[in-house]
This record gives sequence, structure tokens and C-alpha cells, in this order.
Amino acid sequence: MISIRNVHKSFNDLQVLRGIDLEVEKGKVVVIIGPSGSGKTTLLRCLNVLEIPTQGTVSIDQLSLSFEQKVVKKQLLELRRKTGMVFQSYNLFPHKTALENVMEGPMIVKGLPKERVVSLAQGLLEKVGLGEKADQYPHQLSGGQQQRVGIARALAMEPSVMLFDEPTSALDPELVGEVLKVMKDLAQEGMTMVVVTHEMKFAKGVADEVVFMDQGVIVERGRPEDVFNQPKQERTKQFLSLIE
Ligand code: ATP
Repeated sequence: MISIRNVHKSFNDLQVLRGIDLEVEKGKVVVIIGPSGSGKTTLLRCLNVLEIPTQGTVSIDQLSLSFEQKVVKKQLLELRRKTGMVFQSYNLFPHKTALENVMEGPMIVKGLPKERVVSLAQGLLEKVGLGEKADQYPHQLSGGQQQRVGIARALAMEPSVMLFDEPTSALDPELVGEVLKVMKDLAQEGMTMVVVTHEMKFAKGVADEVVFMDQGVIVERGRPEDVFNQPKQERTKQFLSLIE
């Protein structure tokens, strides 16, 4: 379970998040939508403390960090390890094979023995439909395949929650479906997920809750059928009318 309370984030004079409260129960999928610059990526990065909130509290499972005072690095790392992050650009190591990319975290960060990690990584590649591609290098894979390796790599750390930051935005349209399918399967298996995406069909079909952000605040949230079919706020209506 994830809970964030009154999270603020500023970059110098720019207030990007202005008091965000969000709860995600175990096994639920929350999709965050909103215009460019509204703070969606910053919110995800505050969730895994890649950005340190200026104010507020972030809790995952039993670990709760309050940013009213200085937080020690060990605790930041502990919180971060509860999350798996999938980025828009896949950021795979170019000189490592798909299998080695997935093995990196469990071996280096967790220090697990190589034999165990090989079978874990192979299993995860199979899960994302890439069992046959284990020995290929990133440049030999399509964007959609690389992103699926990125998902397997994040899963290899056995996170409590998976965070997706526009995972399909950099892909050619015909490759989007294969990545969304892997994400949908994960959701159906009960993975807790927070997803920033412009894929409204995915949001409608998979989200338990849709959160609409604008200018650093949550303007509206609810079940996808309510937010998409009967938005309450003018700002939400306006945004949806532009994208649908
Ligand atoms: P998009 O949909 O375009 O990715 P977003 O909703 O994810 O947008 P953010 O990427 O969170 O928005 O950015 C929100 C604002 O914060 C933007 O004005 C951006 O320029 C600013 N910002 C983000 N990261 C930094 C940073 N490290 N330093 C300074 N400003 C930043």
C-alpha cells in the first residue's frame, strides 16, 4: 500500500507539486493523466524519491518518510527499493544482453548468486514474451521489445509497486500494444501500479482509479467510467475534450 500526504515539490521558485494526497491500495492500478507540465513525472519521481519532496510524507508498506526534516540516504534507498520504475526511454545498458540487463539489479544491488539470478531473469523475460531474445543486445531489439526488457528489469527487484512514466510514448504506434499487454497482464496478476500515460484506452480498461492533475494539484479523481464519462470539473472536461 502506498500513501502520500501533502507532498510539495519546488525547483527553485517553481512550485511543481502543491499539496498532493494519494493512496493506492495493494493490487490496485492508478492511472495519472493531465496536461504537459502538470507535474505527473515529478509526482512519480517523488514516490520513489528520485526527487526529494520539499514537504510532505511518502509511505510504502511499513516504511514512512516525512520530509519535514532531513531524511538519511539509507532510508531513501530502502524506500526506492520498494519500487520498480519504467521510464519513457528504456535506458538499457547497451553493451549487455537482454538477460544481463535483467540480472544487473538482483546481482549488484541485492548480491544474489549468479545461478539463481540467471533463472530469475530468464523467467522474467519469458513472462514479458522475450524468452527467445535473452542473448540479444538492445540495438538488436525493437523499441517495444526493449521496453519489455525494461519492465522485466524492474520486476527483477521484486518491488511492492511498479511505477510507469509514459512507457509507450517513445514507441512507434504498432509497438504500443505489446507493451500495454504486458502491463495489463501484470495488473491482472495483482501488481500494484501507478501509471502516467496518454493511453486513454488503457486507462479506461485497466485502471481502478484515474487521477487528473493540473498545475501541481489533483483536480479530479475517480473510477475511469466516472472521470471519462461524467467529469465533474470544468478543467477535466476541457482536457478530455482536447485529447479524445
Ligand atoms: P509531461 O507530460 O510533459 O511529461 P509532466 O506533467 O510529467 O509533463 P513534469 O515533468 O513533472 O510534468 O514537470 C512539471 C514542471 O516541473 C515543468 O515545468 C518542468 O519544467 C519542471 N521541472 C521538472 N523537473 C525539473 C527539474 N529537475 N528542475 C527544474 N524544473 C523541473
